[in-house]
Amino acid sequence: MNHHYQNIIASIFDQIKAEENPGAVAAYIPELAHVDPNLFAVSLKLLDGQSIDYGNHNTGFSIQSISKVLLLCMVYKEIGEKIWERVDVEPSGNPFNSLVQLESDNGIPRNPFINAGALVISDILIDLYDDPSTAFLDFVRDLTDSVSINYSDVVTESELKNGFRNAALCNFIKSFGNIKNNPDDVLRLYSQICSVEMNCLELCTAFSFLANGGKKTSDQKQILTKSQTKRVNAIMQTCGFYDESGEFSFRVGLPGKSGVGGGIVALFPGRYVITVWSPKLNPKGNSYRGMKFLELFTTATEESIF
Ligand code: GLN
Repeated sequence: MNHHYQNIIASIFDQIKAEENPGAVAAYIPELAHVDPNLFAVSLKLLDGQSIDYGNHNTGFSIQSISKVLLLCMVYKEIGEKIWERVDVEPSGNPFNSLVQLESDNGIPRNPFINAGALVISDILIDLYDDPSTAFLDFVRDLTDSVSINYSDVVTESELKNGFRNAALCNFIKSFGNIKNNPDDVLRLYSQICSVEMNCLELCTAFSFLANGGKKTSDQKQILTKSQTKRVNAIMQTCGFYDESGEFSFRVGLPGKSGVGGGIVALFPGRYVITVWSPKLNPKGNSYRGMKFLELFTTATEESIF
């Protein structure tokens, strides 16, 4: 099985590496634009802990919106189904930083994976902990079994200095009463959460519990219930790629999540987690090579949840 995946990964990796590398690195967060656009890595981790790595897999990258899944899981674990009073579970069909639907939806974001939704969940996190920033990092370090996972202060500051749209979103939601805390504090925590850096294997490890019925694979600790895990995976399937969620589902057929750092994580419940990282993005803000790799991977393995 492992050998089978290894051969497929190697051949797709080499094929894509030899092709043109289209798209553009995210520059609206200036610090992200410094990354080498030709870096390319993939890791696949099976639930028994075996892994396959290829390319620049030891290089950490900014996981950005992928962090929104971990944020959702942490707060969902704490407050349960009440969370859905503050954020909905519908695909938005709009870009990740769009403001338009909030007006008619009375400040209830369409889902937790657009910026509006993650800002509301960051606001809830502030009410749950004295030091929410440390609490989130501890949660992520526990999931990855790694104390070296950290925030990037330069990326956080770079986003805060240029994050006028997120500031608009946060203030707009506050005007409807769905942000309780000071918008500056919410924006800081949100940007910090997005600035977490990991390499591909660490990201696979962080997401393994979502492929394992909600239990961490290393120590079998239950992070979410099976029902909650189903729901988080379902939201990834329908909303993980913003207005390209249908396209990702159509081409790849797995729940997944992207970030503007160029990472994509996808998982096959009961089998594996796979992460691809390539910084150049398509116009929807999703990694061009990441989408292509995963499409070729599920096509070659003839395995998807459908
Ligand atoms: N921190 C980024 C932002 O708010 C996250 C966006 C993303 O990865 N899609 O714009």
